[in-house]
Amino acid sequence: MEQNFEGQNRLVQITPSSSVPAVENDISYLDIPSLTERQIFAKKAYIGFRKIIGFFYTKHSYGATRRWVFAKVLPDRILYRWKPYQRGGCNRCGLCCKIVFRCPFFHEDQNSTACMIYTSPRHAPPPCVVFPIDPIDLAEVQREVSPAPCPFYFEGQPEHPTTWGAVKAEIRDQLGKRVDKLKEAFGI
Ligand code: SF4
Ligand code: SF4
Repeated sequence: MEQNFEGQNRLVQITPSSSVPAVENDISYLDIPSLTERQIFAKKAYIGFRKIIGFFYTKHSYGATRRWVFAKVLPDRILYRWKPYQRGGCNRCGLCCKIVFRCPFFHEDQNSTACMIYTSPRHAPPPCVVFPIDPIDLAEVQREVSPAPCPFYFEGQPEHPTTWGAVKAEIRDQLGKRVDKLKEAFGI
């Protein structure tokens, strides 16, 4: 059965991190169309198709895929390790929603920009919500929207700046805990 997300998808400013102060949250004045679940899946399929064919002609598909994979597979401890160091904020220019092709969830009028699914519990796009994951992720988008600025930046860095370094540290940590439990169990 098709479900209508009227109200639920009357989103939302494009502010990729809750740690960034909102410029303006009330966009109820925007005339954002309501989407059925089928329409949302169709638009997501279109995005996936455009990303895949993008591998043949744009570097952005590689950066977008990195962000998507990380957002899907990394545990929060690794995924969000750069957030305490994130500064700046989103100015709602909407340019990152129009790299290579215009995202079908992007809404724009004379007054504002918005994403139709950003706060949908079921359909919020993980790669967009977690942006920027780390300096590599941010640099990729900043390169694409240049010369316009994307005002995020990082100040300082986490203990394990690289993703691979953070993954190795997490594995070591988890293995260490298992070994400690075994030692405890066998009274070693
Ligand atoms: S390019 Fe940066 S400033 Fe512009 S909408 Fe995207 S995240 Fe916000
Ligand atoms: S889903 Fe599309 S419109 Fe929404 S934040 Fe991501 S790129 Fe922008």
